[in-house]
Amino acid sequence: MPSREDPGLSGGLPSRGRGRRLTVLSGPSGVGKSTVVAELRRAHPEVWLSVSVTTREPRPGETHGVEYFFADDAEFDRLVAGGELLEWAEFAGNRYGTPRGPVISRLEAGVPTVLEIDLQGARQVRESMPEALLVFLAPPTWQELEKRLRGRGTEPEDVIARRLEAGRVEMAAEKEFDVTLVNTTVQDVCHRLIALMSA
Ligand code: 5GP
Repeated sequence: MPSREDPGLSGGLPSRGRGRRLTVLSGPSGVGKSTVVAELRRAHPEVWLSVSVTTREPRPGETHGVEYFFADDAEFDRLVAGGELLEWAEFAGNRYGTPRGPVISRLEAGVPTVLEIDLQGARQVRESMPEALLVFLAPPTWQELEKRLRGRGTEPEDVIARRLEAGRVEMAAEKEFDVTLVNTTVQDVCHRLIALMSA
């Protein structure tokens, strides 16, 4: 394995700045992003995972400040108006956003940072932080995605339908990403993600 200093890897390249340590994990709803994030949190405490703000209701087992900061519409409006979100998007009837301050301070401290966000958010990050690595998590097959989304049993049919519709749009955008990881097993995806982040 070449070292970080290997001129073949870094020689002559301009410094890519703070975005270098920023990784965006995206992909259709139900593909398993949050399982991957939970495993990263468990197995790689050196990686910092941004906690998003959302207006959706907590699912059973979700804790404020762990999976999300749960906010009402007025609070979300205030964050948007105050420029406190690095990116935000509306997804299947709810709003989601990444608090800017904690991300910037981690990146400035050199901490590897992961954002688990939707396609619209990934596009915004690509604009504002072009050095970020954009990773697309894909299901092994479309049928598998549908099965996972329904099997979760946390959403009513109309919400599942909206998420599948958004999933089709997300799948069509795969080529906008720097790399695709197919979700085979959670450990395998984590392993490959960490390898990409340390390359
Ligand atoms: P869920 O409701 O299943 O937790 O998340 C729905 C979608 O919102 C997922 O695709 C997830 O990646 C995305 N999401 C979560 N947090 C953020 C965020 O801060 N910004 C954006 N743009 N999307 C997010």
